[in-house]
Amino acid sequence: MTESLPIAQLGNSILRQQAQPVDNLGDQRLQKLIDDLIATAVESNGVGIAAPQVSQSYRLFIVASRPNLRYPHAPTMEPTAMINPRIIAHSSEIVKDWEGCLCVPGIRGLVPRFQAIEVEYTSRDGQQHRQELTDFVARIFQHEYDHLDGLVFLDRLESTRDIITEQEYLQRVLPTTSCH
Ligand code: ZN
Repeated sequence: MTESLPIAQLGNSILRQQAQPVDNLGDQRLQKLIDDLIATAVESNGVGIAAPQVSQSYRLFIVASRPNLRYPHAPTMEPTAMINPRIIAHSSEIVKDWEGCLCVPGIRGLVPRFQAIEVEYTSRDGQQHRQELTDFVARIFQHEYDHLDGLVFLDRLESTRDIITEQEYLQRVLPTTSCH
């Protein structure tokens, strides 16, 4: 049975740790953790989630882009577990866009990220993958990857003036939606 896991909140020291490489992909507990991470991301309207966010300090995250209440314009993809991920190369172009984080509820920040990255990771069946990610999916990868190194998106902001509330953000991206 999959279950939705409790999310560590900013201030919890687990979010500031360097996560450990995964070396037990065949372990049923690890496969269950992947299922639970996917369930947690879906339930909380996340487009990605990293293991340290549920207090499991391993180099593993889910990228699960799809349109939802928190990111209405996200592209759709199958939730993908990326294990021991690495960034091999990146574009020189940097783009800024709004990010939020399940560990930092209620606010959004305008975060600079590489527009394109070439990445390597192991999938949950043990296969090695190398692929190029661009735009929103590249952004998700970079955000989740930071969690494995003890960083949150706030650490990437150029200015505290690039922080807005979730309510303000939703009014900007959903101008026709009433908040009342
Ligand atoms: Zn996050």
